[in-house]
Amino acid sequence: MVWENNVRKVVPYVAGEQPKKKEIIKLNTNECPYPPAPAVAKLSAQMDTNSFRLYPDQNNESIVNALAEYYGVKPTQVFAGVGSDDVLSLSFLTFFNSDKPILFPDVTYSFYDVWADLYRIPYKTVPLLDDWSIDVEGMKQENGGVIFPNPNAPTGLFTPLDKVEEIIEANRDVVVIVDEAYIDFGGESALPLLEKYDNLLIVQTFSKSRAMAGMRIGFAIGNEKIIKYLNDVKFSFNSYTLNMPSQILGALAVKDDAYFKDITGKIIATREWTKKELTGLGFTFPDSKANFIFASHKSVPAKDIYNYLRGQNIFVRFWDKERINNSLRITIGTDEQMRTLIAALEVFLG
Ligand SMILES: *Cc1c(COP(=O)(O)O)cnc(C)c1O
Repeated sequence: MVWENNVRKVVPYVAGEQPKKKEIIKLNTNECPYPPAPAVAKLSAQMDTNSFRLYPDQNNESIVNALAEYYGVKPTQVFAGVGSDDVLSLSFLTFFNSDKPILFPDVTYSFYDVWADLYRIPYKTVPLLDDWSIDVEGMKQENGGVIFPNPNAPTGLFTPLDKVEEIIEANRDVVVIVDEAYIDFGGESALPLLEKYDNLLIVQTFSKSRAMAGMRIGFAIGNEKIIKYLNDVKFSFNSYTLNMPSQILGALAVKDDAYFKDITGKIIATREWTKKELTGLGFTFPDSKANFIFASHKSVPAKDIYNYLRGQNIFVRFWDKERINNSLRITIGTDEQMRTLIAALEVFLG
């Protein structure tokens, strides 16, 4: 059809599967295996549904204020959106508006090139070094913006803060976005660097460490000017983003810090146990500081292990993509789920 000449054509991002079956062990999309903070369940049961007649607060104030207090910044330094995917997508639109290519690692979150294509932002990928770490020198070439996850996905490798600072320092004339989706599992946030660098934007999410992927809450923290620019674009796009329950329940979740520390602590402990077990079974992997492990087996192809596990109703993530097609990304579940995984692997590989 001729009208198709005028269509904005994109190759969409492919998210991990959300199977309908209940009996599976789901280790394929880095969700939290524990429920959200207890107050979330309590208030959900008593929610004033009459208020759903009204539009939600377009400034997302309750959640913005809760996050500002928690992270010790001003509310004007916080931006909330519908998952960090929404926040990141708007950030691409807002800050990556140069003719020069933006930079990100070649092996990284596979949404970055999709947004770049969607918004027609030129980009250049910077290959990870042989040990899977981010090439800090490569991130210093001329560019129109920089983005990388810390820890990186799907490797799980954490880039130390002095290296993060080196990247920001070398790129003072563009916006540097640090995607901290997995920062709460033992990494160190770039938040303290905000005082020094006005070109830094930190993006985080409730989907992994705060056990609320289904509520779709993400946020960014930066200086007031950067957040103002982000809000200007948001209000030119869609004024009402976060729905009312997400705003209220998200703010409640942030206030229960003891619970948050408890579940992230448990996931870290389970991850370290799983690393030992996987090593014993002949797997190698970068030393993850996230809630997943990116593992390859010394002799059995990843695809075969993936298919076997699927048959056992254990879902992990596999990409049939150059450079990463012999690795499985395994989300850290409960101790019991990981024991079941290891037992299945023992049968298959033993
Ligand atoms: C999961 C993930 C996100 C997006 O998560 P949301 O559910 O949209 O908040 C963003 N970046 C990375 C690196 C992720 O792994």
